[in-house]
Parts: sequence; structure tokens; C-alpha cells
Amino acid sequence: MTTTEPQTSAVPETMPGIYLPGNSTTEMRQVPVPAPGPGQLLVEVGAAGICGTDISYIYREYKTHRGIDGPAYRGVVSGHEPSGRVVAAGPGCARFGTGDRVIVYHIAGCGLCDNCRRGFYISCTAPSRESYGWQRDGGNARYVLAEERTCVPLPAELSYVDGALIACGFGTAYEGLRRIGVNGEGDLLVVGLGPVGLAAGMIGRGMGARRVVGVELSGVRREWADSLGIFDTTVAPDDADAELGRFTGGAGFAFTIDASGSAPGRSTAVEHAAEWGHVSFIGEGGRFDTEVSDTLLHKQLTLHASWVTSLQAMSDLAANLVAWGLRPEAVVSDRFTLDEADEAFALAAGGSRGKVVFVADSLP
Ligand SMILES: [Zn+2]
Ligand SMILES: [Zn+2]
Repeated sequence: MTTTEPQTSAVPETMPGIYLPGNSTTEMRQVPVPAPGPGQLLVEVGAAGICGTDISYIYREYKTHRGIDGPAYRGVVSGHEPSGRVVAAGPGCARFGTGDRVIVYHIAGCGLCDNCRRGFYISCTAPSRESYGWQRDGGNARYVLAEERTCVPLPAELSYVDGALIACGFGTAYEGLRRIGVNGEGDLLVVGLGPVGLAAGMIGRGMGARRVVGVELSGVRREWADSLGIFDTTVAPDDADAELGRFTGGAGFAFTIDASGSAPGRSTAVEHAAEWGHVSFIGEGGRFDTEVSDTLLHKQLTLHASWVTSLQAMSDLAANLVAWGLRPEAVVSDRFTLDEADEAFALAAGGSRGKVVFVADSLP
């Protein structure tokens, strides 16, 4: 893996980084560029996504993290969806070196607990667990200091924007679809067509789902989804009962996934699952309430709850996307540079049709 490609540009002493002081604002500060310590890489950020969880914090005074006392955001450089190129490696780095392209998994777990050993740093509750952009400096900056063990290879066929999307949303969607074993013997229903739902539709195609259908409340988002060529059809929730019934001849969908995180969205995913169907919940927040007998038991449903993904699955996904000929960046509707952070966050919080990302002009 390690290459000897020479470092082409000298690393400056300071860099811009975006902070989230709250009250719906962002703040750009000039901060020192860190030097990598043992087992650490300095990664020049090529692209970094803005995530629903970032928006929650700056606009809705959210939130805490599992296993962490008090507010999750500790006044660090924001951004947990970076992808870039290694420009310096600290002592002891064994897999990646200068010039390697990487995707950064968004949490540095302790590396020793059972969840970490499964690659699910997301589920680590050790005191040393740190999320990029929340408890340690993240990717909305020119450089990010990453633990080598949190990095996976970004294939040459994919762009940094592709990598940034795999870092969170696409990984989350992939894991949810793996749990329910999507394949070509059944149709897939995706509820909620925000960036994660679009990812689920695209990956569902890659995994070979017979047909892929989306449900989305927002007409603007439905229109954007229709323009991407991912879905056989998309419908509004009000029309779901009639349209989805017609689409499957009343049989329902072998595979359904909720990315809306809403109670009605989850109900749609469950109610439109076929007999012996498999249902996946990946959308955060809120509640789920359902009639049990006819809706769940009598249909012999399997219901999965899935949270983010593992390091290895993220790596597998990157390789699979290349083989499937799919590019995550297709779901990006808006690109910004760091000096446009206010505008980028505001758009991501409400007005955007698809995914909003920061891109660096310094990397090809
Ligand atoms: Zn995210
Ligand atoms: Zn751990």
C-alpha cells in the first residue's frame, strides 16, 4: 500500500478550519497544522461532506454522543466525512504513507473493545473514543490529523468527493442493505430520499435489486432523485398505498429500508414489506409504533436495526462501487469551498435537493 510518491507541496504552518459555535453560525479560524505522532497520518482533505448530524448541532442545539457525558461537540474543527491524500506519516505507520489516497472512518475508537475489534468504532464506549469533528479536529479544514487505523483505501477510480460520501452516508446505507441481504430476487423500497436514502437506492442497484422504488415527502427531492436514474419510480407518501400496491401487484417489497427517521416513514417501510420480507431501519431519532399481528407476525417479517457501519464494510463498499461502475458523487447537488461555510451549512439544513460537500481546489 505504501507508496513513495514525493510530497508535491510543502505543508504550511497554519490552515483554515471551520468551527460550529452554535446559533446557526459557522466560524473560520486559522489554526496550526498538526504534526503526526506515532500511528497518525496527516491527510490533506480533498473533500468533506456535511452531515445531518452537523446540521442538528448548529441549528437545533442537539446533541449528546453515546458513552459521552455532556455535549458531544467540544469546540473542535468540524466535519466527520473527510477523504484526502496522505502528506505525512508519523512513526510506526505500516499501511499508509505519503501520497496514498484514503477515506477516514469518522470515529477513532479505542481499538481494543469488542465493538472496535469488529470494526464498529461507532459503538465503542471507551473514554478514549473520539469522533472527528465532535471531540477531535475533523475534516472541514485543509488538513486532518487521522489515526492510521481509522483510514481505508480510496480506490484510484473514485474521486475524493466519492470518498467523502462513503465516509458516512453511503457506509450507513450499505450496512443497512447488507443486513437484509438485498439481491436480484426481490424489489427494494427506500423510504426517505435525503442523501442516505439516495445512497441506499444506488447501492441497492449495485447489489442487484430487481427494481428500486423511493418514497419521499419533498417534491424537490423526488424530482432530484428521478433525475439521477437510480429509481424505477418515486412516489409521495400520500400516494404510497395506491402506487406501491399497483407496482408490486399487491405483493409488497421483499426488501424495504427506512432512511427518513420518521414514524410514518418506518410504518411505510413495514406496511409495504412483502410476506417473508426483510425490513431495515437506518434513520435516526423519533419513535416506532405498529400493530403487531397482521403487520409483523402474520407476514413473518424480519426487522433489522442498523447503526452506521464497520471499517471493513466501508472498505468493501469502496471496492464494490468500482466494480459496479457506480459513483457516489452523483448524489451531490451542491459543492462549496471552506470560505463559503455559512452558505453551505444553511443549504444543507433545508434547501438542498441532495448532498452538500466541501471541496478543496488544492487537490486534483
Ligand atoms: Zn455523517
Ligand atoms: Zn473500543
